[in-house]
Amino acid sequence: MSVPRSTRRPDSILSPESRPEPTGPGVGLTVGVLALQGDFREHRALLERLGCAAREVRRLHDLDGLAGLVIPGGESTTIHKLMEAHGLSAPIRAFHARGGAVFGTCAGLITVARETVEGHPPTLGLMDIVARRNAFGRQVASFEADLAIAGVPGGPVRAVFIRAPWIERAGPAVEVLARHDGHIVAARQGRVLVTAFHPELTDDTRVHESFIAMMGGGAARTAATAGVCGAAAPEPPRARRAQPAAIRNR
Ligand code: GLN
Repeated sequence: MSVPRSTRRPDSILSPESRPEPTGPGVGLTVGVLALQGDFREHRALLERLGCAAREVRRLHDLDGLAGLVIPGGESTTIHKLMEAHGLSAPIRAFHARGGAVFGTCAGLITVARETVEGHPPTLGLMDIVARRNAFGRQVASFEADLAIAGVPGGPVRAVFIRAPWIERAGPAVEVLARHDGHIVAARQGRVLVTAFHPELTDDTRVHESFIAMMGGGAARTAATAGVCGAAAPEPPRARRAQPAAIRNR
């Protein structure tokens, strides 16, 4: 049934529930989350809490204008097959080649690796690492640990490992950021960040904040990068820095 024009509620006047202005270090950054399989919603929610405009990526044009792309945890073989089916593997490589930042967590770490041992699923080869899948054991061997992560201030991060990989070998350009039991579980190479664990599953936003800093957000923002995503003018630095702590302590 169609409502006569004259009786339609002028919703824009009666329900002015405009979304609150985003705040946080990610304001002005549009960040994609590969949304084919895995826990992409958790990444999206966390990025939005930090002020980013987050976009689920399923098609080629979803990559347009992104400052960075998160490849979530899930199942790496499935993610790879779906990336191929959606025609996204080559465009993601091209996105990285033209300077887009990439953050891979767990299955996402495997996906960006140069190579894997255990199962040998094909990978994107964005980082000079060899990943060992399911390295810490089966699903029942999932665990949590407190990890000191280089570049993440404020003490150890509670890290959730779910059937996690580790980095078996890392090339000379790779910066090792954290180890667990001697195995590399967080690393960075240029604009690619990886964690073997799931920072999107806790309330601690600091690892995502370091990804935001890699994209030129937060304290690292410069006038040049602020314009990348059609962003508003940068906020005063004090206000930007105050927000993440408030979010963390909630
Ligand atoms: N074991 C999974 C794989 O090989 C990764 C698990 C995860 O992302 N939590 O893809």
